[in-house]
Amino acid sequence: MNLDTISAESWHTTIKTLFERQRRHREVVARTTARERKAKLRALHSALLRYRKAIQEAMWADFRKPPLETDITEIAATTGEIRHALRHLSAWMAPRRVGVRLPLIGSSAWIHYEPKGICLILSPWNYPFNLSLIPLASAIAAGNCAIIKPSEHAPHSACLIKEIVNACFAEEEAAVVEGDVEVAQVLLEQPFDHIFFTGSPAVGKIVMAAAAKHLSSVTLELGGKSPVVVDESADVERAASRIAWMKGMNAGQICIAPDYVLVHESVQEALIEHLESYFKRYYGATPEARQQSPDYPRLIHDRHFSFVKGLLDDAVQRGATVRFGGRSVAEERYIEPTILTSVPDGAAIWDAEIFGPLLPIRPYRLLQEAIDYINTYPKPLALYVFSKKREHWQRVLNETRSGGMCINECGLQFFNPNLPFGGQNHSGIGRYHGEWGFLEFSHARAVARQHSPWPTTTLFLPPYRSAFVKYAAGWLARWL
Ligand code: NAD
Repeated sequence: MNLDTISAESWHTTIKTLFERQRRHREVVARTTARERKAKLRALHSALLRYRKAIQEAMWADFRKPPLETDITEIAATTGEIRHALRHLSAWMAPRRVGVRLPLIGSSAWIHYEPKGICLILSPWNYPFNLSLIPLASAIAAGNCAIIKPSEHAPHSACLIKEIVNACFAEEEAAVVEGDVEVAQVLLEQPFDHIFFTGSPAVGKIVMAAAAKHLSSVTLELGGKSPVVVDESADVERAASRIAWMKGMNAGQICIAPDYVLVHESVQEALIEHLESYFKRYYGATPEARQQSPDYPRLIHDRHFSFVKGLLDDAVQRGATVRFGGRSVAEERYIEPTILTSVPDGAAIWDAEIFGPLLPIRPYRLLQEAIDYINTYPKPLALYVFSKKREHWQRVLNETRSGGMCINECGLQFFNPNLPFGGQNHSGIGRYHGEWGFLEFSHARAVARQHSPWPTTTLFLPPYRSAFVKYAAGWLARWL
């Protein structure tokens, strides 16, 4: 459904009708077996492979994303999650027996996983397929109906997501609604059972406020400033190769991209030299070559270009040194991978999530300074440490907070479906991937069954006069 072309009044009706259709159908979907859900997941898996070329073309058209990155981060990341779900879904869906305490002897208890119902998936533009279809796979695995609204800023991708979902699902089970913020707002007025939002913390707050009106549960997958710590024991060249890779990928427009680097002062110069050399190796030895590199994307839209360019200009005006890069071309929305040093406190780049190819570097002398600096910010989504000293990365792990952490590599934590992916507070609420996604889209229903002919509860029925009951209650409180 593309709502851009129809009047505001009819969007409301169209969205309400779609929601109503899913509401009528949700019990049918909820009662599907593991086998039936797996068949749907297989259909989605095949469609992703069938549409591989079209997905690459859509992402190139949206912001010149290199096809190989599309293969790895959009297609393989999603098909890998689906295959993981196919292998484990029967076990995830099985009721989980739990023990009973002594006072409840004679009863049994288990957890029954049931679908939440109708879920709204609001996704951003930077990984449009991955961030729409992995949540969809989890929602389907858990037996839900879902409506996806992809971002309006990646229109080729949004249109293709709709085509793929339409090829795999009936609209009353999973549907895509294309449109902008106003469409998102109309969707948010519906009484969804669960809202799965990926995007900025600012919009996350709007989503949470809208969810509160219906007491819908929420998953918020947000962003923030993800730090990197490079200590004096690190393999500095390896660190530089990975930091440059994740900062150049998607032109830094990744929720788990390194935002800024805290480096031990003794290795700062070595790190910068290696970063420069890797940016050149990845994207070209000269500024012209880097601009023409087919492996380096553009910023998504003019507003975002101005925002990132504004952060660069502000830092430079305040006295920061551009150690590498710094070129930009507004008509192309191109900003070169850029290394900044001596960025003074108070520069806007230290406040906002950069979400672009600028890399401010800040030296520290004692690890405690780096830890204290990280802790001045809200909890980030990712935290990277490059260190060969266990006691160093262990200290960072114990003395900071973040959604996930990765040691001596960048991004690994996202690609392992056995790990939960999500933030804390400003970087998010809730988690998904693998079984965590199944659980996020399920309600864990507590079931207790009494099958004793002499239930212990009989002892505690009123009136509460007997000395024995009083004695037993004392025991209960103290020992049982
Ligand atoms: P965004 O918050 O602007 O938009 C995300 C979605 O929300 C889009 O579908 C958009 O149409 C909708 N939306 C925007 N304004 C809205 C409003 N006022 N009311 C209702 N819906 C609204 O985010 P973006 O620019 O698409 O993506 C960038 C942000 O997303 C960054 O902060 C990044 O860190 C974060 N992000 C997080 C993850 C993650 O997994 N945690 C992944 C990718 C991006």
